[in-house]
Amino acid sequence: MRTIDKTKPVMVTGANGYVASWLVKQLLEDGITVHAAVRNPAKKEKYAHLDVIAEKSSGSIKYFAADLLKEGSYAEAMEGCELVYHTASPFTLNVKDPQKQLIDPAVKGTANILNQANKTESIKRVVVTSSCAAIYTDALDTVNAPGGRINESIWNETSSLEYQPYSYSKTLAEKKAWEICGAQDRWDLVTINPSFVMGPALNPENTTSESMSVLKQMGDGSMKMGVPKMGVGVVDVRDVATAHYKAGFIPEANGRYITSAHSTDFLEMAMTLQPKFGDKFPLPTKALPKWLIMLVGPLLNPAFSRKMLRNNVNIPWDADNSKIKSQLGIQFRPMQETMEESFETLISSGILKSK
Ligand code: NAP
Repeated sequence: MRTIDKTKPVMVTGANGYVASWLVKQLLEDGITVHAAVRNPAKKEKYAHLDVIAEKSSGSIKYFAADLLKEGSYAEAMEGCELVYHTASPFTLNVKDPQKQLIDPAVKGTANILNQANKTESIKRVVVTSSCAAIYTDALDTVNAPGGRINESIWNETSSLEYQPYSYSKTLAEKKAWEICGAQDRWDLVTINPSFVMGPALNPENTTSESMSVLKQMGDGSMKMGVPKMGVGVVDVRDVATAHYKAGFIPEANGRYITSAHSTDFLEMAMTLQPKFGDKFPLPTKALPKWLIMLVGPLLNPAFSRKMLRNNVNIPWDADNSKIKSQLGIQFRPMQETMEESFETLISSGILKSK
């Protein structure tokens, strides 16, 4: 159990990211000094939105250049901190070299940051942004879990370098985090394991997260013939930020936290957009038949292998989210609100244009 002094700076890795930006906002609004680790401080457009928030809040922000793959590059940003949030990790599904593009930054990056925590005497707690992907690969895994829903005691055993390498990268990275934490006792580790994150982006023009690309495809006509009815969990980015915040500052927070609000599927998600945006955007309104997706999916997108489609299309998804609700007091937003407000950011930023 660790108590964190809010007058000490807090480090956030990948501070400009989709999820991290909302966490940085909460920290700044609570008067905290944020040590924001970003890959390239010369690219101001990636984090200018955080400066705007800092100007309006009682906290302050300082930027540090750091790269997951450069050993020691987080030393300066971590100096004097008691709490570290490690959110940085590539979230992209279409990769040519999964080892280089996903596994190395996720696993070596986690080791780099936690080894630095070992060298930084002031560190008391590290919160790692893991994922439900470290628990399951396919919706079918949730069906096969005890009681038909995943829980925090389960580890992903079905992903590999060849199959769903993003899930594999998150699994190996979280395992590495627990291994390094277990070898010392000065700092403790808490992991936040979100399902698919949706909700408004604070910097939509520069967001690389897969979350925004899926939403964009729902609105730009790419899915107007229909959407694969794949089971998935969804959670609002603002609730994920609150989960991180509480995991950092509640002394009793411990272990892994499944952070998932709704057990749903891609069709149900798209249908929440119909009432408000259905007449202006070519949104999907029906499920694509499984046989058709199995036939054309692998040709359209290498990530849509037959195995992946077989294990996800028309398969329900479920997770037990009771731990985070009872221990961290998280109350999740309704999916309708999350989806509508996400879509609105894509419209107001000009990424999506009405027909
Ligand atoms: P994002 O916006 O793409 O953020 C990823 C962050 O990681 C960016 O700040 C990126 O920096 C940084 N990064 C990537 N490679 C790096 C490297 N080599 N060195 C330093 N920084 C690097 O994606 P996100 O959705 O917010 O994801 C944040 C975290 O949440 C990730 O750990 C992801 O696995 C996890 N997560 C996301 C979801 C979801 O649905 N979005 C669900 C579960 C878990 P640049 O901007 O410079 O590239």
